[in-house]
Amino acid sequence: MKIGGRDYVPLDDVADFYGLGKVQREGNDAIMELGARSLKGSANSVEFYINRLKFNLSYPIAEQGGRLWLSRMDLTKVLEPVLRPSKIKGAERIDTIVLDAGHGGYDKGAPSSYGFEKDYSLDVCQRARMLLMQAGYKVAMTRSSDVFVPLYDRVRFANQYPNALFISIHFNSGGAGTGLETYTLAPRGVPSMMADGPRISDLDPCPGHVNDAENIALATATHAAMVMRSRMPDRGIKRARFVVIRDITIPGVLIEGGFLSNDSDARLIATPAYRQQLAASVVQAVQNYRRAVGTQIGEVAARQEGPRVETNSPMLRATPSKTDPQTPTVITPTAPGN
Ligand SMILES: [Zn+2]
Repeated sequence: MKIGGRDYVPLDDVADFYGLGKVQREGNDAIMELGARSLKGSANSVEFYINRLKFNLSYPIAEQGGRLWLSRMDLTKVLEPVLRPSKIKGAERIDTIVLDAGHGGYDKGAPSSYGFEKDYSLDVCQRARMLLMQAGYKVAMTRSSDVFVPLYDRVRFANQYPNALFISIHFNSGGAGTGLETYTLAPRGVPSMMADGPRISDLDPCPGHVNDAENIALATATHAAMVMRSRMPDRGIKRARFVVIRDITIPGVLIEGGFLSNDSDARLIATPAYRQQLAASVVQAVQNYRRAVGTQIGEVAARQEGPRVETNSPMLRATPSKTDPQTPTVITPTAPGN
């Protein structure tokens, strides 16, 4: 059905398709769940939870004729790759992680009373580099010292590695805001959440669009890893067209690991323990992504023996249901106890 000129599909049909049963309404909220898997949305809202992890849809859930409707864009660009990442091919080739420490040199990034974004982002990348190498990955860094590197040079550098993932580390700024955000490239036609509204340029093709499915799967894996390890609020997965995630030809995300403008976030970010935790989240993100995307249906039985990744995270303790080989992966946090 067309709503506001856009294709929408009934949320009931979506829940049905993914085996989540009937949509339960509670006021404006709609909840669909089966076992560890759940979807939650609200009429007229872009906030949407998949397995309790917060996403920001490109278009709000609509209510018409007593039913709730999801835009087809969000179905194909968010729900499908997140709920069935095993349909994405090629993750088995990933051997390199490109780490991008935001800012550097005269570009100090956001300040806090304790230090600058450029130093914190580099420190997290150096810590993540050690952990990734221990886990057997090759690591390439767009900068490994306090130097200014133009955005386009970062992109050119990253694009030399065909079998790689790109993870850019930043910290936020802006009033008393608090919490964690993960950005990935807005698909063609989807407005950036950093803009005031839709723009004509939203329709321009970008090099990164070849990885729309990989990008949202990597964002999910990354955001889940960060949120699970931290007590910071979950501000959700968001869409943007930052140069580094727009022009890379490998899957990529940009994380904002807290607000330097918020004193309690800033104090946390100033501690090596928190930065080590973020670095560990980066490694977990890569493992989550590869597990999710690389899973083939035939491997489900073997995978039920338990996680191969060393972790205490409940999200990886969740094992797929024997009756549902179509959805073998859990890359988002699940209910406690699962
Ligand atoms: Zn930044």
